[in-house]
Amino acid sequence: MQIFQHYIGGQFSDGATQFESLDPATGQVWALMANACEDDVNAAVQAAQGAFLSPEWAGMTATARGKLLSTLADLVAENAQRLAEIETRDTGKIIRETSAQIAYVAEYFRYFAGLADKIEGAHLPIDKPDMEVWLRREPVGVVAAVVPWNSQLFLSAVKIAPALAAGCTVVLKASEDGPAPMLEFAKIFDQVGFPKGVLNIITGGPDAGAALTRHPKVDHVAFTGGAETARHIVRNSAENLATTSLELGGKSPFIVFDDADIESAANAQVSGIFAATGQSCVAGSRLLVHASIKDEFLACLKAKAEAIVIGAPDDMATEVGPLCTMRQRETAKDLIARSLDVGAKLVTGGVALEGDGFYFPPTIIDCANAPDAPCLSNEFFGPVLSVLSFEDEAEAIEMANDTEFGLAAGVFTQNLTRAHRMINAIRSGIVWVNTYRAVSPIAPFGGYGLSGHGREGGLQALLDYTTIKTVWLRTSDDPIPDPFIMR
Ligand code: NAD
Repeated sequence: MQIFQHYIGGQFSDGATQFESLDPATGQVWALMANACEDDVNAAVQAAQGAFLSPEWAGMTATARGKLLSTLADLVAENAQRLAEIETRDTGKIIRETSAQIAYVAEYFRYFAGLADKIEGAHLPIDKPDMEVWLRREPVGVVAAVVPWNSQLFLSAVKIAPALAAGCTVVLKASEDGPAPMLEFAKIFDQVGFPKGVLNIITGGPDAGAALTRHPKVDHVAFTGGAETARHIVRNSAENLATTSLELGGKSPFIVFDDADIESAANAQVSGIFAATGQSCVAGSRLLVHASIKDEFLACLKAKAEAIVIGAPDDMATEVGPLCTMRQRETAKDLIARSLDVGAKLVTGGVALEGDGFYFPPTIIDCANAPDAPCLSNEFFGPVLSVLSFEDEAEAIEMANDTEFGLAAGVFTQNLTRAHRMINAIRSGIVWVNTYRAVSPIAPFGGYGLSGHGREGGLQALLDYTTIKTVWLRTSDDPIPDPFIMR
């Protein structure tokens, strides 16, 4: 049995209690995780605040911070395979995906390492004589980062890297589901040479998350997860008045016009919905296809979905592995049953696989006769694609925007002017045209509506971890003449 510990103030420790983590491929316990209680949360926040105010961190040049992040990037790259194997074991995310994704996580640390000493202030041409006024961009303070179980290392890196580049300190609460990769990452972070307490990593459930996000010494909360949890976090922020950045769910439209390259669009749709076993916030989970090509496109998708290799997550041949938790599988079953009840039709899949692991097959549901089917509006976080067809561009736009979410959208067309109209009309934080799921540390990522606010990736993400100090300096040596004249 493997044991994973918290990382607080540069020390590894067991929590007050521990909890068991299940291997999603077998449903069996494989590891024990430290479980944060309120005292652990307090200790982690104290450590982060101490580090934030310490001369070792507060007095470090931005260039030196960048160099430490750069070393971290190298160490993540060197240890990517080990981290990938642990993430695969604890979450069921297939090894093909974890190894590629974690190798790329190193690039996020490298990108923000380069930005650390490019955070510039400004000088203002102020409208008063004998005054110099300038703006300093300063780190916002102690950051509470809370992440879900899917792609934990990736979702944590997009918070930790800009926060540390900006000079903040961080307490990261890993998800109670599949936290092992983050607790293992702590061991790598510890080798870099950051001052103690700059990053603290704990795990535990909603109670630990709530204690952390309402903590009076927290200045900013960076959250990825569901909208309902985000509401709790925003309510908590009424206590500490922390700023928030929220990366939430999606029900992203994948729109295919009749002039699209069918084979290319079908491949993008298959990876857009079935990669990560559908447990992806940007999953293209609502296919909107032009009525004239619906049958052809669905036949192509069905053949591709049925050819997908389902198997053990640690096998490089596997294309779809188990869901992370039994809960996810039950949600998928329930949403499908309720959608079939109102007239939706299964094209393929739909029935959970036998056995102990949390397997669910790639599933396609035709909602032509069920426009109110719950599968069209609820996020599954599983390998389930819901399908509608449209007659013209206006209807495609209306259907695309018929959601409370607004994270991502895909548009497949060869018509350049139509592509531009669609880009402008769709309300979502990301629009991919003739591609899907591409991400980069250089490109901002985030949503509209119930998909949240704030951006991860790009310069904007770095600025979210800063605040502005306005400095006024009087340059005259003459005494201030009259105390009651406004200047
Ligand atoms: P979740 O909201 O249940 O949990 C996320 C995290 O919040 C966990 O660490 C959990 O312990 C913590 N938490 C739970 N209750 C809390 C509370 N009251 N206060 C503070 N923290 C609390 O989400 P989940 O089911 O683990 O993850 C799936 C969700 O995450 C989906 O909606 C998915 O779309 C979203 N997601 C979004 C992105 C993105 O970048 N936009 C990426 C991945 C996942």
